Amino acid sequence: MADNSIFKEFGISGELLTLVRKAETGIRDTFKRIEDISEYNHLKVTRSMQKNRLSDTHFAGTTGYGYGDRGRDVLDDIYADVFRAEKALVRHNIVAGTHALSIAMSGNLISGDRLLSVTGKPYETLEQVIGLRGNGKGSLAQFGIEYAQVDSICNGIIDTGKIRQAITSDTKMVYVQRSRGYSWRRSLSVEDIAVITEVIKGVKDDIIVLVDNCYGEFAEEKEPVEAGADLVAGSLIKNPGGGIAPTGGYVAGNAEYVENAACRLTSPGLGSDAGPSLGHNRLLMQGLFFAPHAVSESLKGAVLCSAVMKKLGFITSPGPGEKRHDIIQAVRFKSREELVTFCQGIQSGSPVNSFAAPEPWDMPGYDCPVIMAAGGFVQGSSIELSADGPVKAPYTAYIQGGVIYESVKLGLLCAVQKLLDKGMANIIRKSSI
Ligand SMILES: *Cc1c(COP(=O)(O)O)cnc(C)c1O
Repeated sequence: MADNSIFKEFGISGELLTLVRKAETGIRDTFKRIEDISEYNHLKVTRSMQKNRLSDTHFAGTTGYGYGDRGRDVLDDIYADVFRAEKALVRHNIVAGTHALSIAMSGNLISGDRLLSVTGKPYETLEQVIGLRGNGKGSLAQFGIEYAQVDSICNGIIDTGKIRQAITSDTKMVYVQRSRGYSWRRSLSVEDIAVITEVIKGVKDDIIVLVDNCYGEFAEEKEPVEAGADLVAGSLIKNPGGGIAPTGGYVAGNAEYVENAACRLTSPGLGSDAGPSLGHNRLLMQGLFFAPHAVSESLKGAVLCSAVMKKLGFITSPGPGEKRHDIIQAVRFKSREELVTFCQGIQSGSPVNSFAAPEPWDMPGYDCPVIMAAGGFVQGSSIELSADGPVKAPYTAYIQGGVIYESVKLGLLCAVQKLLDKGMANIIRKSSI
């Protein structure tokens, strides 16, 4: 038996440690499933690196225009291969997932076109891209691009009729959000995306299906392009950056559509041929190499979190044994104080800024105060362990990332210990009847 005394340094009681270890033994089969997916994806990534003859010479950076940046081009080719896409655009100067999605949309839509979301309200930060909120400056709406939305997932089931009905002759692009985002709805599997894509293409086969792939990469063996999606976009400080990429985003899919997005990122005429990598290639490659494992560690952490919180009587989604298609774990608390205490506990177990206690604040773009716990090495990185939630009923924390299972477990132990110490949870010793 390992020496438990180190846990005391974090204030973790023996009783809680026992509970968490018991929970771990109950989720071994789920862990095995996650490890199998991770192994497959690790091989997939490595094979893509081999096929593209990745070499240490590709790690050298370019400056200025960045013409003939071999490393950048090989990185694009490796991503294209991993995502089974014709082409990919992977750049450190795509600032975030929002930016990647924004260029995928604005590069492929013109005045009079209509964008349709079939997964209801899009992720918060996209509202200003579309022009649903804010002053509208530079938004799709300002350029005459229309928007409609339909929530086609009812009680976890895809309502294909609703999708069909929502498509009009102007519909040029359909937005599908793979991850649950900050909502209680389930995430979409790649199989679900195949169903949605088939319905859309059945009505009008030139509609561009854009999948918001944030938080979904490597959660399954397949990726959305394999399910018929035309474009995927995401952030490198989430799954595909493996906790190593310092910043960046990607777009992958149909070659013409990806190049259109590149023309928005740089300019028409420059497209994907310009843009210096400035020496970031190695970290973006290495991040991709780490990504399948980082995702599986995060998934295992999420499963443990779900199992432990459920044992303590909290409502969790997904449940510990449920199939996962993204890395987000939602836990419902009964009050503001419980939610804040939990998030502060997560922060206290972090390697960076462990001494800081996050407080709810009025973040731009949200309609209520939000609490965010993050103690990672890259600012805002949510492939590293983070927990956040809008501070309003129903008090829900969204926990994601971790990169390293042990770090999620420690964060969880610290968070639960804080709840126990404040009498907001208790360990019920059930006598076996
Ligand atoms: C994170 C995320 C985004 C983009 O957010 P950024 O913070 O700009 O990276 C978009 N959609 C979903 C579902 C996300 O999780």
